[in-house]
Amino acid sequence: MNRPYNFSAGPAAMPEAVLRQAAAEMLDWHGSGMGVMEMSHRGKAFISICEQAEADLRELLAVPPNFRVLFMQGGGLAENAIVPLNLAALKPARAMDFVVTGSWSQKSAKEAEKYGDARVAATGSDGGFTSIPDAQGWQLRANASYVHLCSNETIHGVEFHQLPDLAALGCDAPLVIDFSSQVLSRPVDWSRVGLAFGGAQKNIGPAGVTLVVVREDLIGHALPVCPSAFDYRLVAENHSMYNTPPTYGIYMAGLTFQWLKAQREGDLSGVAAMEARNIAKARLLYDFIDGSQLYVNPVAPDCRSRMNIPFLLRDESRNDAFLAGAQARGLLQLKGHKSVGGMRASLYNAMPLEGVQALVDYMRDFEQHQA
Ligand code: PMP
Repeated sequence: MNRPYNFSAGPAAMPEAVLRQAAAEMLDWHGSGMGVMEMSHRGKAFISICEQAEADLRELLAVPPNFRVLFMQGGGLAENAIVPLNLAALKPARAMDFVVTGSWSQKSAKEAEKYGDARVAATGSDGGFTSIPDAQGWQLRANASYVHLCSNETIHGVEFHQLPDLAALGCDAPLVIDFSSQVLSRPVDWSRVGLAFGGAQKNIGPAGVTLVVVREDLIGHALPVCPSAFDYRLVAENHSMYNTPPTYGIYMAGLTFQWLKAQREGDLSGVAAMEARNIAKARLLYDFIDGSQLYVNPVAPDCRSRMNIPFLLRDESRNDAFLAGAQARGLLQLKGHKSVGGMRASLYNAMPLEGVQALVDYMRDFEQHQA
């Protein structure tokens, strides 16, 4: 039996092959007599799982050698505090500049106020977060310790298709990106990034692991109040095992990385293959929405997200009927975030093109039925 197509924004659908492999290895990992959940994080077996996961991730994202990969806990929201706790003191003013393009970067800016002089350098709030403010107009401060943005706003469906070149804007601060809902959907230009963080529960694996990729020179500047378990220096020195890491989540992430490495699209493989597929998936849905009379996506075309596509029904009284009909066809979790209403289709790596086609077919039927 085919599984339904799951459009959840996160925790989100996982590749079926990964779930099957995890199920097969649940009671006995590779003849060890133990399931991964039952292993000491200090033992050889788990250390090999963790090292392989890191190596595969580095390969997939072409992480340069002067960046450290950390598997942490607390999710994206904990990083909203952990990043300033570690980076605010890079410069004495503890100034931090935020580019706000939706709910998640807005939350990041608010949280950072506790740890220093956090300020909004630019915001798309006037337009209801439907576009990205032009980088030339960002109010970046010379004494800022870092500049933060969210490279894909999961709720508003706004994505940076190119990261800003801060140096070209006359700013020497490192760029911090929250790539929770973008990670592994496309390559990362590390020459423009100082630190990237993201929760696992969209494109990596189960909730519980937080991925941090951080340039080495940004490590070792934590404020004295920073909890030891959240001090990047201690986490890095202990290879993400300063305290017990989320072992099962790291294992599942590792299986996803291996699945990703095996993906092919024409001549492309890995993340490049996923990007090609993700472009095709997003285009299919946006083109249909733009051509329809019933559905609307309000985001400016140059920053529409490939991963999270919010859309409204022009007749909102039909929302419940739309969702019930979708569910009946095996199209799950399409309800939009409560703060923006309507619908949202999340098209992470595990969503095949066939799933998006099934959604478009349903949306067309629903619209015609209604007329
Ligand atoms: N940042 C982004 C872009 C997100 O989408 C989310 C969760 N949807 C978060 C941060 C918060 O992550 P968590 O719930 O893991 O703390």
